Amino acid sequence: QIQRALRSLSVPLERLHIMKGHMVEDMCKGLSRQTHMQAKVRMLPTYICSTPNGTEKGNFLVVELCQNQVRTLLVTLYGDGNMSPHMMYKIFDLPDSIRQGEGEALFDFIAQCVSQFLAETISSDPSRSEERLPLGFVFPFTCRQTQLDKAELLSWSKGFSCSGVVGKDVVQLLQSAINKQEFCRVDVVALMNDTVGTMMTCSMEGRPCEVAMVADKGSNCCFMAEAYLVETAEETSGRMCVNTEWGCFGDDGILNDIITPYDARVDEESSNPGEKRFEKMVGSLYLGEIVRHALIALTAEKAIFTGTSIAILKEKGVFTMQHVLDIVNNEDGITDVRRILEALGLQPSERDCGRVQQVCRAVVGRAATLHATGLAAILSYMCQTRELEKLMVNVGVEGELYAGYPRFEEILLSVSRLLSPECMATFLPSRDGSGRGAAMVTAVALRLAAQRREVNEVLAPLRLSLADLGKVQALMREEMERGLGKETNASASVRMLPTYVSHTPDGTERGDFLALDLGGTNFRVLVVRVAEEGISMSSEIYVIPVAIMQGTGEGLFDHIIDCIIDFQTKQRLVTQTLPLGFTFSFPCQQMGLDKALLLTWTKGFSASGCEGQDVVQLLRDAAKRKQHLGMEVVALVNDTVGTMMACGYDDPKCEIGLIVGTGTNACYMEEMRNVGTVEGDEGRMCINMEWGAFGDNGCLDHIFTHFDRVVDETTINPGKQRFEKLISGMYLGEIVRQILMVMTEKQLLFQGKPSPKLQTRNIFQTKFLSTIELNGLALRQIRAILSELELDASFEDSVLMREVCQTVSLRAAQLCAAGLAAVVEKMRENRGLDQLSVSVGVDGTLYKLHPRFSTNLQKTLKDLAPNCDVTFLLSEDGSGKGAALVAAVADRAAN
Ligand code: ADP
Ligand code: MG
Repeated sequence: QIQRALRSLSVPLERLHIMKGHMVEDMCKGLSRQTHMQAKVRMLPTYICSTPNGTEKGNFLVVELCQNQVRTLLVTLYGDGNMSPHMMYKIFDLPDSIRQGEGEALFDFIAQCVSQFLAETISSDPSRSEERLPLGFVFPFTCRQTQLDKAELLSWSKGFSCSGVVGKDVVQLLQSAINKQEFCRVDVVALMNDTVGTMMTCSMEGRPCEVAMVADKGSNCCFMAEAYLVETAEETSGRMCVNTEWGCFGDDGILNDIITPYDARVDEESSNPGEKRFEKMVGSLYLGEIVRHALIALTAEKAIFTGTSIAILKEKGVFTMQHVLDIVNNEDGITDVRRILEALGLQPSERDCGRVQQVCRAVVGRAATLHATGLAAILSYMCQTRELEKLMVNVGVEGELYAGYPRFEEILLSVSRLLSPECMATFLPSRDGSGRGAAMVTAVALRLAAQRREVNEVLAPLRLSLADLGKVQALMREEMERGLGKETNASASVRMLPTYVSHTPDGTERGDFLALDLGGTNFRVLVVRVAEEGISMSSEIYVIPVAIMQGTGEGLFDHIIDCIIDFQTKQRLVTQTLPLGFTFSFPCQQMGLDKALLLTWTKGFSASGCEGQDVVQLLRDAAKRKQHLGMEVVALVNDTVGTMMACGYDDPKCEIGLIVGTGTNACYMEEMRNVGTVEGDEGRMCINMEWGAFGDNGCLDHIFTHFDRVVDETTINPGKQRFEKLISGMYLGEIVRQILMVMTEKQLLFQGKPSPKLQTRNIFQTKFLSTIELNGLALRQIRAILSELELDASFEDSVLMREVCQTVSLRAAQLCAAGLAAVVEKMRENRGLDQLSVSVGVDGTLYKLHPRFSTNLQKTLKDLAPNCDVTFLLSEDGSGKGAALVAAVADRAAN
């Protein structure tokens, strides 16, 4: 029988693995918005998102409500890494009557303790009496917390049952009680569970502690979870401490197969049968009881105490945790065991003593093993959600069981290592309970609040209201009108260049066409076959050496023709003369579909003798020099137009083209009667807005920030393309870098220590924004990017970085939307419609790859132009396919 009893108390390793899996499942359930109401492991958000960094300083009060005491504590931090805080304590006894009395009386009592403690500690130092003291409140009951200083009590436990408190905000109750006290200038800044306090206390030892386990009368654990996984809280970036409340694990019956008859008896006799099943197997409040029931059962089976009375064991609570520990910890011989049992009034034989000790060891060992299993679940969950191969973490531990059972830590370590071999936990015993940690939470909260104010100050100019954006939209509209007017065109910052493209594709275009793409990331030559079955293409990328880009115009165009000849030869297209569409992504004054004067080079091109010339003619001249007859240039196409045309082949409603890549620009179909710069009033023409230059006449000065001005000044074209410099890929990384430098200067980032690399221009690429802003991206990846920049980013730094990136990319998307809103609203008015339905063909890597840009753009556009129903289409190769289609449409129109 004794062997069977001992076996039932030992859980095999495979079963522990299963239990660990269930614990992880329950944790996920508790965190998910849909399922947390049914979850047994509650996973309560604590709104504690940071651990101390050592810069905290000042005086902090803590009041801790305990089973039968109220503990007050004053902690002075010196900002010296929290090495040796100064602490003063006072403990007040809590009368039994208060625990079951009225809520108001309880909080008045706590407030009086605070007030009396302050009178005693601070009156001796009158200089302190004027300051308002921040207070952290340790409240070890289950609360639904919605902010660090807002927590609704869900239920009392541990013998408390004060009336009128459940469902109320206990922070508010304490603050009101404190306000009633005279000369008590105290603000309740934070509320926390004792487990969380322990985690923070252990965090002070110079390294962050991200898990805490309390193995005491009850049992609980908290850890820093990725905030986006805590769906029940609003926070989405960074981490948040989650109070697991794992004592309720098993309340759905999942532990039934390992629950012994002794556990069942303990549960039946408790004040809350059926609840806290896990806690009742591992909490020190219950271990003595489990042993007692085991002894009763074994005696009934005549396995122990044969022939003597064990009546004394019938009384609940006679066998205490202390008895268990004394018996277990007695390694040599059984003399002490006999003494303990005899003191209880039993008459054990030698064999009884040995067996009682075995039972006690089994019960305590099981408690340690189950704690380890719960911990393993948390460690594995952390490792997995942080996308780590190996997790190294500090675990703060405290409580009667941990302190009183020397083998506890050993079991914890070996079992958790077996169950979660990918995790390495280091245990930090908490020597100061939760009080010191509560002071730290309070200090961190204040530090973060001050930092938040400063961060907001830095970012405020970049945050645009809907009204601001409406104004940008109106200004864009004004500039558009000005650009279209014959007289006003010269003074407009938005050039509104005619493209001589008057039709979008209708799907009947046919034939083989060549296309050239110059001015994007790559120089390419393509052949595009437009057939009944659809469009097929082949292309080749060619290099333009810098010496040619910046040499002579003749040299550049000769090189281009060489590339075309090479391509046509390779493609066996030398025998025909193919129509060619030329995508030329530089601002041009177009005089006809195949006549365009280059206004200025951009993007690093500076070949001489081209500006002011017709680039189609330059290309034709080069072909003549090379005696190449295999092509005929029929159209010069801006990349925005190509983009619109490429999408227009599939969707006839596509009458807008948008680019958000290295630069930004847009085109759309305007009524000829509105185009003052071209003769004729019939039909429509596509207008290349060149909106990147919007604001170059000063009309956007009010929204430029310090960062934008610095970025502009360091470009090769200061004062030019001001709108583009707020939006496009070439600049967003630079804007972010400027903000990071200012924040570092203000000590808000990297502990005020800039890396020399951060001072390097263009080191922060726009693609980093995409990575950093990815939802749910492990912060490890952000840190990897940052370490490439030789920045040693703390966890908080990474979170702040993400906010900076989000602010910059959001503004870019919103400004782009303001521009588009002006366009669609004008089109709607042009056509006299109440509601316009239109599509936009979009190209550009920023738009396509950034995780939020397109969503932000579309949402803002809806807000700014509610009467327009705008569909966004991703363009596939607008500058290749689109240019060929312009040539094809021209061909179709000509025939
Ligand atoms: P172009 O506009 O020259 O035709 P793209 O449309 O490919 O070329 O845009 C290139 C720009 O896109 C680069 O300047 C870069 O800043 C930006 N970019 C590249 N990768 C990403 C990314 N993953 N997320 C956001 N922007 C990116
Ligand atoms: Mg492009």
